[in-house]
Order: sequence, then structure tokens, then C-alpha cells
Amino acid sequence: MNHHPHLLDVQRLKTYFYTFEGVAKAVDDVSFYLDKGETLGLVGESGCGKTVTALSVMRLIPEPPGKIVHGKILFDGVNLPDLTMRQMRAIRGKRISMIFQEPMASLNPVFTIGDQISEMFVLHQRLGKKESWERAVEMLRMVQIPSPEKRVHEYPHQLSGGMQQRAMIAMALSCNPEILIADEPSTALDVTIQAQIIDLMMQLKKDFDAAIMLITHDLGVIAEIAQRIVVMYAGKVVEEGQILAIFEDPRHPYTRGLLKSIPKLGERSRYGRQRLKEIAGIVPSLYELPPGCSFYPRCPEAMAICQEKGPELTELGGGHRVRCWLY
Ligand code: SF4
Repeated sequence: MNHHPHLLDVQRLKTYFYTFEGVAKAVDDVSFYLDKGETLGLVGESGCGKTVTALSVMRLIPEPPGKIVHGKILFDGVNLPDLTMRQMRAIRGKRISMIFQEPMASLNPVFTIGDQISEMFVLHQRLGKKESWERAVEMLRMVQIPSPEKRVHEYPHQLSGGMQQRAMIAMALSCNPEILIADEPSTALDVTIQAQIIDLMMQLKKDFDAAIMLITHDLGVIAEIAQRIVVMYAGKVVEEGQILAIFEDPRHPYTRGLLKSIPKLGERSRYGRQRLKEIAGIVPSLYELPPGCSFYPRCPEAMAICQEKGPELTELGGGHRVRCWLY
């Protein structure tokens, strides 16, 4: 038993990749927390370290070349990097589940959907074969797959992309996880199906009471469902706060850029796809990060000091924190 204040508490996490080209500091001193039942949005362009952060929590970083070199990942007070792979397997997919960008990354093509979901019940809840199979059908129904009694006998490739996403969500939720990590759960889908998947996740969140960490580049989606936002840039947290604080009073020039790239409410279709194209410049290579603030080469408000020295996170009050020399 322990009484850690947060369900998940990531402290000063550093995950680096050691390659021939040099050391890529994919996650460089990242701290954030997730509370029970909360939905947290982890936002940024691709390559900013969001996915590596999630994979670090899951202990799924390919090692080598990757390595968690520093920091703590406290889940229910237990530091996950201290666990053996065997101990970790008892948590991964059971107490912490992840939905991947690509459904086929978690669905096995040679087994039926029913085999794969019922296996979760056999493994993690020690239910019998028959009961597990019935639960699998029930899960497919819950994620609104039509004729689940029939679909349960099908192989992943027989399902459409949207159905595969649903099957993956069913599998991720089948063990009633305390944390569900969803990495761009909708990137590959068209806007309507994407909206359905997000609605579905929110409905399931109510039913299952899982805390959700939603990883996305799409602030439109975040606005609808998250309570708090963590914005990442080049491996670092650059801004963090309650959703209202970030949307009404964004402080970091990068966050402001991200928000400008979302059309005003009413001008966009629901969950409009925004790929943040409007921010000029490209994400710096993690191998050759500029000295000082990583956003310096793209920042419209850059000052002399920004090029010399990287700013620390500054607390602005109410949990709103920003990493920028303007504050
Ligand atoms: Fe821009 Fe300077 Fe702030 Fe970095 S520290 S975001 S370069 S103003």
C-alpha cells in the first residue's frame, strides 16, 4: 500500500537514443502527472517526444538503441523502471494499456479478433475459455462493432480501419486498465470515423473510469475531451496547464502558434484535422538541437538570451507552467 498523490507521476524523465549519428535526446527532462479518472492531453508535432514518453511509461523502448537514462515513472507509487520485465508484464496490458497509432501493431494477423480479446480475459482475469469468449463478444458490442457474434470469428484484415481501431480499443479495455494511453488513435481514419472513435473513448472512459493520456498533434480533439494539457517541443515540456488556461491564455510562443493553426469554433468541421502546418520552420533534428531555447530558430519573439541559454519552467499560478524567457 502506498499513498502517492498521483496515479502516474513522471519525474525528470530522460530517454535517449544512442545511434551512429549521435545521441538523440528524444525525451529530455520531462515531468508531468496523471490523476485517477483524469484525461490529459500530450500535445506537439511529430518527433517532439510524445510517443517516446508513452513508450517509456510502458517500458517498450527498444533497448538498444534507446534507454531510460534518468528520472522516475511512478505508477501508484511504484517506480516502473525499477521493475523486472516480468513484473512489468503484470502491469502492461493489465493496469496500463496502450492504443497504438497503427491498430495492426497490437492486433495479431494470424489470430481471430475473438481469440485475441478472450486471451486477455484468460490471462489477466483467469476466466474460463467459454466465459472469456462471451466477454470478448460483449467487448466488441461495447465498442459498437455491428454483429459482434459474427465479427468475433474474423481476422483483423477482414475488418475496416475504423473497425480495427475499435477492436484494438476493446482489447486495450478488456482488462479494465487504470490508465489508457492513446497514441493518435485516429490519425489514419477519416474525419467522421475519427469523431466516432473519440466519442466512443469518452463514453468508455465514463463506463470504465480509466485515466486517459491522449497523445495527439490535434488541439481540436484535446479541447473537447481533456482537462489538462502538456505541450512538448523537442523533447521538453514547454507549457502545461488546465485546458481553459491554455486555450484562453497561452503563454509559450509555440503553444500560441499551435492554437492559431486551429480554425475558430464554428469555422471548422467537428474534430477538424489540423496538422499545424502554419508554424513556420521545421522541428529541429534531435541530434543537432540549437544551444539555448530549442524553439529559438522558429520563434517570432526570440531575444538575444534565448540563443545562449535554455529557459527553465516557470510557474505562473494554478498549475500553469511555461518554459520561456518572456516570463
Ligand atoms: Fe521564443 Fe525565447 Fe521564449 Fe524560446 S525562450 S520560446 S526563443 S521567446
